[in-house]
Amino acid sequence: MFRIHQHVVLPQSLTLKSSGLGLALSGAINVTGGPFSHTKYELRQVHFHWGERDDFGSEHTVKGCSFAMEVHFVHWNTDLYSSYEEAASEDGGLVIVAAFANLDSRGNPAIEHICNYASAVRYKRQWEKISVDIKQLLPNNIKKYWVYKGSMTVPPCYESVTWVIFNDNITVSSRQLAQLRTLHNHSPNDRPPADECQGYITKNLRNLQPTGTRRVTAVEHVFTIGQIVQYASLYDGSSVFTTSKDFTWTGGLQGSDEADF
Ligand SMILES: [Zn+2]
Repeated sequence: MFRIHQHVVLPQSLTLKSSGLGLALSGAINVTGGPFSHTKYELRQVHFHWGERDDFGSEHTVKGCSFAMEVHFVHWNTDLYSSYEEAASEDGGLVIVAAFANLDSRGNPAIEHICNYASAVRYKRQWEKISVDIKQLLPNNIKKYWVYKGSMTVPPCYESVTWVIFNDNITVSSRQLAQLRTLHNHSPNDRPPADECQGYITKNLRNLQPTGTRRVTAVEHVFTIGQIVQYASLYDGSSVFTTSKDFTWTGGLQGSDEADF
């Protein structure tokens, strides 16, 4: 079982920042447990992926199906490395915990809260201190998930990531997605990039990539006297996930000088 620790419970304890590629939350949050109980991973930030269409907003697909949104909790290995930057390029350096969001008119309360600040972080590099309950970004059932070794989904796409993807989903509304698409992919004083996105972050997805030789493992954790017992069944991977290190930017992501996530 994963546990989420939000160390600082003061109001406005997290930083919400626009990178020009999307929105990221950072601050004193930590996730422990799951398959990483014996290694310390520290949360670097939480960010969001969405698409131009409500039915195509996740970076991973499951058996060919896309989701409305995908939330990434990016962690780095503080046992082996001295900084996120160092860990990002090294084997075992990063763990990204991912949650898919299904379309639902009720939306998600944490995303709603973030959307309320959309006007304050509308442009690249703008930021705001906010208070968000990170747990609301996790699905109810966090015992079942898939694991595979893969890459970052933004350049330089290092093969340093252990992906943990929950089977259960959160929700996001069409209205919330529409609000996120009103964010700009450039600074307030910069001219919008000359592309079909016309200066907006209409999507921030990596194109689907072949699974290659990666093996995706389905995991369910059961606790016995403080020890985690893993029940794993192996998929062949080919029909479950698609990803690889080969990557080129498309659309509104072109021309960015930042790759915060
Ligand atoms: Zn991501």
